[in-house]
Amino acid sequence: MKKQEARARIEQLRKEIQEHNYRYYVLAQPSISDFEYDNLMNELIRLEEEYPQFRDPHSPSQRVGSDINKEFEQVRHRYPMYSLSNTYSPEEVQEFEKRIKKSLGGEIEYVCELKYDGVAIALSYQNGVLVRAVTRGDGVQGDDVTENVKTIKSIPLRLRGDDYPSAFVIRGEILFSHNSFERINREKKAKGEAPFANPRNAAAGTLKLQKSSMVAQRPLDCFLYSVVGEELPYSKHYENLKKARDWGFKISAQLQKCRDIEEIFEYINYWDEQRSNLPYDIDGVVIKVNSYQQQDTLGYTAKSPRWAIAYKFKAEQAETTLKSIQYQVGRTGAVTPVANLEPVYLGGTTVKRASLHNQDQIRLLDVRINDKVYIEKGGEIIPKIVGVDKDKRPGDSQAIEFIRRCPECGTELIKPEGEARHYCPNENGCPPQIKGKLEHFVSRRAMDIEAAEATIDALYQKGLVNDVGDLFFLSKDDLLQLERFADKSAQNLVDSIQSAKQVPFPRVLYALGIRFVGETVAKKLAAHFPSIDKLARASYDELVAINEIGDRIARSITHYFRQDKNLEIIDKLKKAGVQLKKQNDAEETGNQKLSGLTIVISGTFDHYSRKQLQEMIEQHGGKNTSSVSSHTDYLLAGENVGSKKLDQARKNNIPVISESDFLDMIGQ
Ligand code: NAD
Repeated sequence: MKKQEARARIEQLRKEIQEHNYRYYVLAQPSISDFEYDNLMNELIRLEEEYPQFRDPHSPSQRVGSDINKEFEQVRHRYPMYSLSNTYSPEEVQEFEKRIKKSLGGEIEYVCELKYDGVAIALSYQNGVLVRAVTRGDGVQGDDVTENVKTIKSIPLRLRGDDYPSAFVIRGEILFSHNSFERINREKKAKGEAPFANPRNAAAGTLKLQKSSMVAQRPLDCFLYSVVGEELPYSKHYENLKKARDWGFKISAQLQKCRDIEEIFEYINYWDEQRSNLPYDIDGVVIKVNSYQQQDTLGYTAKSPRWAIAYKFKAEQAETTLKSIQYQVGRTGAVTPVANLEPVYLGGTTVKRASLHNQDQIRLLDVRINDKVYIEKGGEIIPKIVGVDKDKRPGDSQAIEFIRRCPECGTELIKPEGEARHYCPNENGCPPQIKGKLEHFVSRRAMDIEAAEATIDALYQKGLVNDVGDLFFLSKDDLLQLERFADKSAQNLVDSIQSAKQVPFPRVLYALGIRFVGETVAKKLAAHFPSIDKLARASYDELVAINEIGDRIARSITHYFRQDKNLEIIDKLKKAGVQLKKQNDAEETGNQKLSGLTIVISGTFDHYSRKQLQEMIEQHGGKNTSSVSSHTDYLLAGENVGSKKLDQARKNNIPVISESDFLDMIGQ
């Protein structure tokens, strides 16, 4: 690989990993499996080692992935919370043990533990009382989720006995058992909400709920795996953990001391086989050096202790028979082939269906009906088929003919050039696409109308709503025809729809669900075309002339406004009084939240370019200057922030803010 190629790949990997971190830690909605994520991370680490000139202390390989979501107060950890270096390879565990032996010499005691797959938490106790619970966050500071954690029955609010230190922190993992997870998903489905993909996401999502009364309704559990403090009774990890059990903490019964690599592998192999019998998910085994003194000698990297390693298990696989294929149409019209399987038990749940992604994937796997297939759970809710056992192919296996027509509306499918998927082009007549558009329209970041998926479905089934425009003409009586609606809930929905009429134009534009028009593009378009009529009249050339509006977006917009059905919808929205043009100067010029403030920008940012941030500062009444002086109010710092600017800011006591702090300041 050439130097420049390596640099480009490193940058791309950092960007991708950052996006996955955000989806995993903050949204609790990963889009890839942990194995796929770890492959990306390992590739990044390898390239950074090979090309040290591109190293960067802000690279995701050097930092703990952050779960901070700003809806909670952030609290600094008294003792920083590290991640664990991890591996899928037994050889690397051997190397780890050799390295430790070489550094320490003499007898070494290891502790092997299960690696619970949940959310890390640090609990602070003072004089035997739980005073604070903080998520790992970025390792230095985390979200204060004390109120939510207090609802977890297995966490003692007051300790037993009287021999605990006056102040200490105990760390652990908050999780759901398989049974609780299934119960929650059943409840979510009954309410018409999207189910969680796995117990970890469910735990992460639940812990960050804003109402602790809602957290209390879900039976979270917590295993504690390390005690930290200055007055601990023992100078060894294992002994302190055992003691913590007497104080009332739930400590794993599977904790085990090991003397050498053979015993470590015995533990690993045993749990690799037995993990499916546990009532909760584990994703590996953690091996730690027991003595604190030895731990101190070994120390830490920027991200993880050198005295511990996590050996991660490969995703569990199961073999079963592919019985038939069913085709699902998504909200964008994308058609996904889904395999119906002979039910099989995998990773705590019974699996009946698995994704086959697209026609190319079916060809690549060379899979046929009645074949024996291997399935695996990935990051998504539905497992995937990863292989076929061709030796077991039966005589009656049948080749899979990909469908030509939409299974929902019968329209002939198209396969756009360069795309792997087939689409149903009948955007405004195909039921799942209509429902998908409605769900997007009501979502929180769009019109923020409080209508669950099940409500949308019922409204559509009853013929009360056929497009987003119809929502505004619903009466309370219409809603009372639906199951589960009573006077109060019907009134609430009517009120929620009424208040959506105040949603500003850029968000309405986003809510329309025009392909490729996300929130940022919608804002950009609204800045150039202050009304929907002006946008509808814009030509392809006018659109691509706007910075960052490319061919794909421009074509999608002109296509949208050529459809009579869409113009009809816009007419309904106009009649209803929805904001289809900019209302006032504040909206046009942004609110004036930065009025009188001087801000210096330095470094690179996750979501916006420096130029865009500069525009945003000006739009909100602030001033952007290039160097830090005593007249500067804030230094907006990204990755690779200039060290001179940072020094100047510190010298002048000028607050250094991140991109997300800045977005908070302007209310975005
Ligand atoms: P990690 O989850 O691999 O390991 C560290 C964590 O393990 C600790 O913070 C702690 O919460 C937990 N843990 C469980 N049992 C433990 C025990 N007995 N002792 C000590 N710690 C224990 O590391 P991480 O930094 O939290 O996350 C990185 C991993 O998360 C990745 O390797 C990947 O698997 C996954 N991830 C996936 C995605 C995705 O998109 N799929 C994105 C980000 C991270």
